[in-house]
Amino acid sequence: MIAVVGGGITGLAAAWELTGGATGPAAEGPSVVLLESSTRLGGKLASVQLCGRAVDVGPDSFLGRRPEATQLCREVGLGDELVPVATSGASIWARGRRRPIPEGLYLGVPTKLLPVARSGILSVGGTLRLAADILVPRPDTRGPLGDRAIGPLVSRKLGRQAVDRLVDPLVGGIHAGGVADASAAALFPALLTAAQRRSSLMRSLRQLRARGAHLDDQPLFWALRGGFASLVERLAERLGERGADVRLAQPVDRMGRAGARWVLEAGGRQVTVDGVVIATGTDPAAALLASHDPEAAAILRTIDYASVAVVTFAFPADALPDDLFGTGLLVPHGTPVPRKAARQLGLAAGEPFMVTACTYLWAKWPHLDLPGIRLLRASVGRAGDSRHETMTDDDLVHRVVQELTVLLDAAGEPDDVIVSRATRALPQYRVHHLLRVASVEAAVRRLGGVAIAGAAYHGVGIPACVESGRHAASDVVAELSGTAGAART
Ligand SMILES: Cc1cc2nc3c(=O)[nH]c(=O)nc-3n(C[C@H](O)[C@H](O)[C@H](O)COP(=O)(O)OP(=O)(O)OC[C@H]3O[C@@H](n4cnc5c(N)ncnc54)[C@H](O)[C@@H]3O)c2cc1C
Repeated sequence: MIAVVGGGITGLAAAWELTGGATGPAAEGPSVVLLESSTRLGGKLASVQLCGRAVDVGPDSFLGRRPEATQLCREVGLGDELVPVATSGASIWARGRRRPIPEGLYLGVPTKLLPVARSGILSVGGTLRLAADILVPRPDTRGPLGDRAIGPLVSRKLGRQAVDRLVDPLVGGIHAGGVADASAAALFPALLTAAQRRSSLMRSLRQLRARGAHLDDQPLFWALRGGFASLVERLAERLGERGADVRLAQPVDRMGRAGARWVLEAGGRQVTVDGVVIATGTDPAAALLASHDPEAAAILRTIDYASVAVVTFAFPADALPDDLFGTGLLVPHGTPVPRKAARQLGLAAGEPFMVTACTYLWAKWPHLDLPGIRLLRASVGRAGDSRHETMTDDDLVHRVVQELTVLLDAAGEPDDVIVSRATRALPQYRVHHLLRVASVEAAVRRLGGVAIAGAAYHGVGIPACVESGRHAASDVVAELSGTAGAART
């Protein structure tokens, strides 16, 4: 028997793989028990009913360039429920107003000068600094050193403004973190390669990007018509049909040995298994591993998380202007509310916006485009900004509505609103993240029959989590069957 600890998308994908994945259970396959501490499956994946539609309040989409999540949806029979993103483009709040994000960015880093110059996002000085990368490129003097921090690396080549107004909101936005100490090797390996070339960073990135151009015919993002809760429900249903034992309200708080087997203590009960996939996030994983490998546990504890909140609104359609562009708006970290607006709203001078991003759900997803209603979500919170954590839901909604009057020219009150909080939700991939992960994985492998998986290791997005869960499941099966084979000979 193999246990999966944690029933987020990573643990569910691991259990799916353990029960045979695309092909289904094999006669000699392991029996599977999934232990989830809370009373519901899905972890960060959560949908609510709003205006008669399932609306996601955790992730609302996944990347189309990676196949793992769409493949899982198809394997569980939800292929027809996949919805491609309906529009492209987005804006950024810069120099006091919304401005369309220019074309030619590679993960937020400019690869072309003119579109950025025309966008008005950078000042004249910032644009000239960007131009210097073409005219007098600054060679990289440090070498790759295995990893580099994205912010300083790009700043040296393209200037600080390009980092603060483009790279930080676009790359940092994915993790609700900043790029000042974000790992290039983990988040943007092409940047490390490009930075080593003697020529312009923009030109090098443009060349590297062209190599992946064949993937551009995929929709950029997908969602599910019934929300991501429908994927969780379907996985739970199909796992049940396959004989997996899915148990809720079972927090695993200890992992002990019984010879070569593992004894998990969950909610006062013991489960003895041959192998374990730990898919919980790093804090619980560290607690489970501490008595077996304190060093691995200590390394896991160095991975910190950002807490965020998502406020989802149903506005009357006439409360928002018609000229909102693309799928949403990004607000660079630390941008102060303009002085006049701050005074009118009763905010302290220089107070930064709390909203980090707005998603125009009606424009992004055809199934959320409702007559007379504008569904909109606002994200708040990131590493280095925890103001939302000490606010009540009412205060948070009030503040976000105030900010939307400035950011989106919203006028009027919403008809409905849902606040969803995710504490310690998004792992921060700091410089040398991959080294930390490799050493933890090596330590865990030495324990025998154990693997770790999840958002904290090889990517926070849903496709990466699915891959991580399935990969960990295959590793444990391969290892256990290898041990069984060796014992037989
Ligand atoms: C607000 C928000 C928006 C996001 N937007 C996107 C997006 O648009 N696209 C995208 O691709 N990704 C997005 N992400 C990231 C993505 O949703 C997550 O990285 C992913 O869902 C994490 O899945 P997981 O299974 O690894 O972890 P989790 O979802 O955290 O699941 C871990 C599970 O383990 C359980 N657990 C913990 N401890 C124990 C224990 N001791 N015993 C048993 N069970 C335990 C928890 O209860 C939980 O259910 C977003 C995340 C957030 C928070």
